[in-house]
Amino acid sequence: MGKIILTGDRPTGRLHVGHYVGSLKRRVELQNSGEYDKIYIMIADAQALTDNADNPDKVRENIIEVALDYLACGLDPEKSTLFIQSQIPQLTELSFYYMNLVTVSRLQRNPTVKTEIKMRNFEASIPVGFFTYPISQAADITAFQATTVPVGEDQMPMLEQTKEIVHKFNSVYGETLTDPAILLPENEACLRLPGIDGKSKMSKSLGNCIYLAEEPEEIKKKVMSMYTDPDHIKITDPGKLEGNTVFTYLDAFSRPEHFERYLPDYQNLDELKAHYQRGGLGDVKVKKFLNHVLQEELEPIRNRRKVYEKDIAYVYDILRKGSIEAEKTAQQTLNDVKNAMRINYFEDKELIARHTAKYQDQ
Ligand code: ATP
Ligand code: MG
Repeated sequence: MGKIILTGDRPTGRLHVGHYVGSLKRRVELQNSGEYDKIYIMIADAQALTDNADNPDKVRENIIEVALDYLACGLDPEKSTLFIQSQIPQLTELSFYYMNLVTVSRLQRNPTVKTEIKMRNFEASIPVGFFTYPISQAADITAFQATTVPVGEDQMPMLEQTKEIVHKFNSVYGETLTDPAILLPENEACLRLPGIDGKSKMSKSLGNCIYLAEEPEEIKKKVMSMYTDPDHIKITDPGKLEGNTVFTYLDAFSRPEHFERYLPDYQNLDELKAHYQRGGLGDVKVKKFLNHVLQEELEPIRNRRKVYEKDIAYVYDILRKGSIEAEKTAQQTLNDVKNAMRINYFEDKELIARHTAKYQDQ
């Protein structure tokens, strides 16, 4: 069995720097490492509809935005299969069978879903589809027999749920599904990048994002408005690093060569942090440095995006071809699942022969 990646994003908005450090950058590195036999990247429109049922146009309009962001970051359709979830009906069929292997109380314990229910004011009435989306994610991952799922930390409970379904399925019906491993970012700041407002997670739904396609002026404005240490009022005041979003972003993005280029008074981030903690270093100076770092990282992405924006028909064609290819693989897994579950009546010659014999004897 080869090494296979499956991961994806919900088309609920453009992708942001949280996606980039949490998963996207890693995917491109893994793609270019040549160590993987197959890489499937899914635009999860069916999942996005579970909490946007009344706003299908939002999902529809954002598919191309996510695809453009993928290509802009360096995902290469020659090396990775980019596809749209809803175009693979086998995923829905797998979800339906997996539902029998999961209890309601198990779903209720999922901490990410719990937070998301609160965020969306779903407490009083949760759409069933939304409540069960961790099961559909298990279908997405197993349909491609993924061995590796590179995602942010918020996806850990989903991977645990998937692994439980795999174990249960294999123990009840026989070894059929592949047990996937989560691949989290190595850099702690990238596990769950906070929003520019300092809120726990940068998220399209919270409007606290720096988007990958953002223009330079907008990036600068957002960086200059970022949440820091509210008690760091005068430059001479000692500053706190915990919960200081600007430093979290520097943890995620800055490298020693950035200091050489943009802030040569300091050798590295540790020196900058120490000065901030001692007092005597103003937020504006740190923010200006972060702005340089982000501008350098995002410029090539924005420029590549502009090239693909000129040929939208080509981008849709990539998704169409990717979806056709993905469907073939998912169908293969669905056949295996149906064989294992013994719902393959017409393919089972033995079954028909046995029933024929049963009634011949009477
Ligand atoms: P939504 O609010 O619609 O759920 P989202 O911004 O949470 O959108 P998703 O499409 O749910 O984005 O997540 C896609 C991938 O990006 C997942 O692997 C997730 O872990 C990762 N990710 C999203 N936000 C962050 C973040 N702030 N830090 C690190 N990784 C993130
Ligand atoms: Mg999310």
